[in-house]
Amino acid sequence: MPPSLPPLIAAIATPPGRGGIGIVRIAGGDLDGVIAGVVGRPLPPRVATMASFRDARGMPLDQGIALYFPAPHSYTGDAVLELQGHGGPSVLRLVLARCLELGARLAEPGEFTKRAFLNGKLDLAQAESVADLIDAATATAARAAARSLAGEFSRDVDGLVERLTELRMYTEATLDFPEEDIEFLAAGDVTGKVAALRSELARVQVRARTGALLREGLTVVLVGRPNVGKSSLLNCLAHEEAAIVTPLPGTTRDPVERVVEIAGIPLTVVDTAGLRETNDPVERIGIARTWAAIARADLVLLLVDARDPADDLHADDRAILARLPVGLPRVVVHNKTDLAGIVPRALVHAQDGAPRRHVWMAATLGTGRALLEREALAAVGAEGETDDTYLARERHLAALRAAAAHLDAAALHVAAVPPPIELFAEELRAAQDALAAITGAFTADDLLGVIFGRFCIGK
Ligand code: GDP
Repeated sequence: MPPSLPPLIAAIATPPGRGGIGIVRIAGGDLDGVIAGVVGRPLPPRVATMASFRDARGMPLDQGIALYFPAPHSYTGDAVLELQGHGGPSVLRLVLARCLELGARLAEPGEFTKRAFLNGKLDLAQAESVADLIDAATATAARAAARSLAGEFSRDVDGLVERLTELRMYTEATLDFPEEDIEFLAAGDVTGKVAALRSELARVQVRARTGALLREGLTVVLVGRPNVGKSSLLNCLAHEEAAIVTPLPGTTRDPVERVVEIAGIPLTVVDTAGLRETNDPVERIGIARTWAAIARADLVLLLVDARDPADDLHADDRAILARLPVGLPRVVVHNKTDLAGIVPRALVHAQDGAPRRHVWMAATLGTGRALLEREALAAVGAEGETDDTYLARERHLAALRAAAAHLDAAALHVAAVPPPIELFAEELRAAQDALAAITGAFTADDLLGVIFGRFCIGK
């Protein structure tokens, strides 16, 4: 094969185990040899062709559908062959081995999608959404990933980059006529444009933050004195939708953890052993585990009894609140409203620093659950609708934050008298680079390795 052609890669694309259909996928520069070796005759492009898949001696390994996509009209942009046979691990391994014998090598995780990115079929944010769609733990997360894959997130980011580019062109032109700086800036309403860009960016940030919650999920820790209703609340949150929630890899570490779903966000809820100071060694272990759980929590729900006065929390509960890490979002849940004869409601208690949210509900009856869900999401900054967002990753959020910081710095420069145009231009450039990294217009090779290394093989 001429060295300029991309090497052949092959993998079993369907999950391990038994199934009706199993697919071996091969991509690369020249598939003629593989097609001749496996199928024994040329394949018409993009036509499902019934074929026997054969070994080196011409003996059948399996029978199925062969699909040939000549470059560039394929998932990867290279020539791609799909051999859709029967979904048994042994037969699939035989077909794969035959492809390797014919010159392909085993694909690395995510290598097909990486090629799609390198061949310009997908931008980086879209390529990441392929993995996120596969890994989506809830239906809402899957829909958000599909929106990212369709390019919604990328279009918003590209829109920002385009407007930044225009502003940069205008600014660079200004640099050529330094004595007219100020007039130039005023004539182009540069201040107004920077402000408009900043607020558009803020809008994208909100959607992306909510999207990141859909992807990453949240760890919520339930704390409170014994019998206050922690287990009942866990059951209340784990209503029927919970059945479709699968734990995110590595999130559930303890039998008292359950994954539930609020507005499509996967929540790992940790029911704690109670936080009382105690000398009982077994209970002490439980307490140590509780504080360990709190250390990795995104949100704490402190349960108290609705029959106790709201403005005079029990000393134990006050002690718990005081010991929570500063800045850790929290909601005080006044449970058992039915016994207290109170109707469910929510209240935000303004405080120095973070506001404290209170919800009154009855866990065993489920009344007030919607209020708790709303307040819990608000406490962690999930604004807006989770069903109108795109799936975003921490990498994207960091890039958006960086772009926002550069735009803020740019706004300060342009407001100064006289404005330091070079510094202003430099901040715009940095903001643009940060945004461009999201879609992969400027991306270091090592970052690509990290991103695609987390895919499954065959994708
Ligand atoms: P935990 O020790 O904090 O986990 O508390 P549990 O969830 O085991 O609840 C202790 C008791 O309070 C149980 O008998 C529950 O049925 C009861 N309970 C919990 N929540 C409510 C509620 O909202 N209303 C009423 N009436 N009882 C509740």
